Amino acid sequence: MQNTYQDLWTKTKDYLATCFNETTFNDTFAKVCDVVKFQNNVIYVLVPDNYIKTKINHMYIEKINAVLNTFTTEKLKFKFVCENEIKKEETPISTNNRLYLNHLNENHSFESFVVGESNNFAYRICLNVAEQPAFIANPLYIFGGVGLGKTHLMQAIGNYILDKDLNKKVLYVQANDFIVDYSKSTQSGNMDSFNEKYDDLDCLLVDDIQMLEIGKKSQQEFFKLFNDLINRKKQIVITSDCPANQLKGIMERLTSRFAQGMTVDIKRPDLEQRVNILKRKALELTPKNIPDDVLYFIAQNFTDNIRELEGALNRVIGHSDVCNYNNITLDKAKDALEALLAYKKSNVDTKENHDDLLSIIADFYGISVNDILSTKRKQNFVLPRHIAMYILKQHYNYPYAKIGVILGNRDHTTIMNGCNKIESEINSNKELKMAVETILKKVNK
Ligand code: ADP
Ligand code: MG
Repeated sequence: MQNTYQDLWTKTKDYLATCFNETTFNDTFAKVCDVVKFQNNVIYVLVPDNYIKTKINHMYIEKINAVLNTFTTEKLKFKFVCENEIKKEETPISTNNRLYLNHLNENHSFESFVVGESNNFAYRICLNVAEQPAFIANPLYIFGGVGLGKTHLMQAIGNYILDKDLNKKVLYVQANDFIVDYSKSTQSGNMDSFNEKYDDLDCLLVDDIQMLEIGKKSQQEFFKLFNDLINRKKQIVITSDCPANQLKGIMERLTSRFAQGMTVDIKRPDLEQRVNILKRKALELTPKNIPDDVLYFIAQNFTDNIRELEGALNRVIGHSDVCNYNNITLDKAKDALEALLAYKKSNVDTKENHDDLLSIIADFYGISVNDILSTKRKQNFVLPRHIAMYILKQHYNYPYAKIGVILGNRDHTTIMNGCNKIESEINSNKELKMAVETILKKVNK
């Protein structure tokens, strides 16, 4: 069964049943059953009365949302509402299969996308496609380097379509998720959940199509889906790290179709655009004033991609929050960025370039490079960190000590343990194996 929002609540509730004694659970949660609405990454769950609502909000909401986050990588939240709080036309829709997971990040909108010379054309075409799906360019094929805004723009199309009409079925998938979905269904001999997820779409967004290379059988299935959507005049958007005719290991009848729609590319932003992006992000991220010299310093030192730029800015802001100061200065920013700059320098110093590795791992897991370098122990940071250790050891042949330096000055036993952990699991854990293979392919290893 595919994860619908209803499933997510049911799973969370089942888990809560194991955390509380029977009376507490029955008094509070037994009658909390239906998901009634989903909007802006908030899942609305119906509660029978105000008393229960208040109790949940005061005592349990954090735990409940923490449980939810173990079931999904998206940043979702539950909100508990009484019937009278939901508008008439929206109640109750718990049986409505439109409550599927679209996997879109609501922050990826056209409004939050900073336009400059490097992405102006791509932006305009995407906006046109969002306004008139399947009319302007189908499929729309977006390519460009890591961290330049492909996923953002593609999701902006999906969000725009849904903003206009919540009943549209828009689905965002990474190409490797498509492979996982398809192989899981064929292995279990039951295509129901696959069909439920991919049937009847109005708009399909497939990210990083080059990953399809590792799933030969999935390519056939994707070809069918692709044709079906095009024939039914439904919009398809594809992103890739290269033009369609340079895709390797993907059958030609697919790549030639990718090129039949419209292709746009995104280039690297110049200094001025990087500063503009930082200015915008700074306004979104903090009420604190960040002086221009700090923004220029970041823009001059983090030139490769926008994710990196964002990561650096986050670090500067995070530093000021943790160390509790309001006036961010150039010197303080330099302190805050020390580890990231050292990491970059280690890329320059080494012949074998691991430049993109951490960005790619971070991207794969939906976290930031800072999270990998940090000391945070949350499982969704620890695994990517261990994978980074393992890949730097196995595939770049770096000594433990060097990996330690690259990964935020960790000592060599920590690195050794991380490498061993992945090594001992990789052959028995298919998902882990697939993740590592996907990442290796992205870094051309
Ligand atoms: P890609 O898919 O090309 O690897 P992403 O779309 O994931 O890159 O972009 C990386 C990060 O940079 C995201 O957080 C995204 O929101 C941000 N970003 C990229 N381009 C822009 C832009 N032009 N304006 C604002 N943010 C951007
Ligand atoms: Mg992307």
